[in-house]
Amino acid sequence: MYAKNIWVDASEEKKGKIFNFAKDYIDFLSYGKTERLVVDESIKIIEKAGFKNLNKVKKLKAGDKVYALNKGKNLLVATIGKKSIEDGMRILGAHIDSPRLDIKQNPLYEQGGFALLETHYYGGIKKYQYVTIPLALHGVVYKKDGSAINVNVGEDDSDPVLGISDLLIHLAQDQLKKPAANVIEGEDLNITVGNIPLKEDKAGNVKKYILDLLKKKYKFDEEDFLSSELVAVPAGKARDYGLDASMIAGYGHDDRVCAYTSLRAAIDAKECEYTTICVLVDKEEVGSIGATGAQSRWFENIICEMLAKEGKENHLATIHAMTNSMMLSSDVSCAVDPLYANVNEAKNSCYFSKGIVFNKYTGARGKSGCNDAMPEFVAYVRNIMDSNNIHYQTSEIGKVDQGGGGTIAYILGNYNMYVLDAGVPVLSMHSPMEIVSKADVYEAYLAYTHFLQSK
Ligand code: MN
Ligand code: MN
Repeated sequence: MYAKNIWVDASEEKKGKIFNFAKDYIDFLSYGKTERLVVDESIKIIEKAGFKNLNKVKKLKAGDKVYALNKGKNLLVATIGKKSIEDGMRILGAHIDSPRLDIKQNPLYEQGGFALLETHYYGGIKKYQYVTIPLALHGVVYKKDGSAINVNVGEDDSDPVLGISDLLIHLAQDQLKKPAANVIEGEDLNITVGNIPLKEDKAGNVKKYILDLLKKKYKFDEEDFLSSELVAVPAGKARDYGLDASMIAGYGHDDRVCAYTSLRAAIDAKECEYTTICVLVDKEEVGSIGATGAQSRWFENIICEMLAKEGKENHLATIHAMTNSMMLSSDVSCAVDPLYANVNEAKNSCYFSKGIVFNKYTGARGKSGCNDAMPEFVAYVRNIMDSNNIHYQTSEIGKVDQGGGGTIAYILGNYNMYVLDAGVPVLSMHSPMEIVSKADVYEAYLAYTHFLQSK
């Protein structure tokens, strides 16, 4: 069903399913504030559903459910189809990193009686959105002996929150004349963490107090920040949004909303001809680079390993498996915001509550950096949607020459597989409080499930 309102068409039973699914997603999003936490939570969910670590499985046959984990930040979930993996897979791929503030390697300093942490923002943010909001600190600190210390401050009601101060309006005459990109400078995104001096009131003692506290509570020293991966993210849980509670407000919908719906589809898809894959990747917001990003060889290596466990050890089988595959690149798209409707071209834009969005292409300027899906594959996917009464719509990322964006679609396209961008429309994308429609979330889950089951 193309571009029709889901709520208007939904039975009472379906509305119930939409709201129930949203509850589970809200819990997932509230917990999954970092890619590591998303991976942890996802493994709990899939193990409960009977998926086993690929390392512990010697041979693979139809119906087997396995998963593989890459360095704690990249996860692949597979159900073996009736056909060989070599005949191709039905793949869903989403990214689980979101824009945030990373803590620098040498972060802690004292100034004007305060202890502060230096940050370096990760991904595309409007810097002014990150001041005067409660922030939570998450991540891991590695000691030289290889042990890891997990940090999680600011989510529990009994925890303190952190934050970045902003100049009071009374004295902001000069600041407010600056362009919005410079109102808050990146180098000024420093997080306040303390104000009590250790013993006497002497310069440096507030920093010492914080170091003392870190030592007592977490057992790490200042130098251990060098090997830490700490991030500051908006604190608090995702919530129902709107008087009708039809939407969800939360940090990190891009792209955990597609990660969750893809994961649930990979668990729930039944009687699949082709091997189904859900792969969750890191680093999309900074170019999909590194060992845990979509450009990593890891994905190909795992497929190669799975084929070997199917008894096919030659590399040609991997090449065939990739070439014969179809993928929905599960990533969010920009919904039309009535307050800023002028950045979109109405006919080629997506709207809340009209279903999963297919972006044939993303990119900027002359479609630069896009995947641009093959029309025969778009037709194939349209047929799946219409045959199963799934609400869907199509979109571009804004008006021509207005800006643009990218996804991981082109990276898997490099394997010569069919790839189409498909995800949930989002408002206020990349802000500390992104918004999605519950109806679209559930519809994306249905769309992904039917795609995985397609013959
Ligand atoms: Mn993004
Ligand atoms: Mn995204």
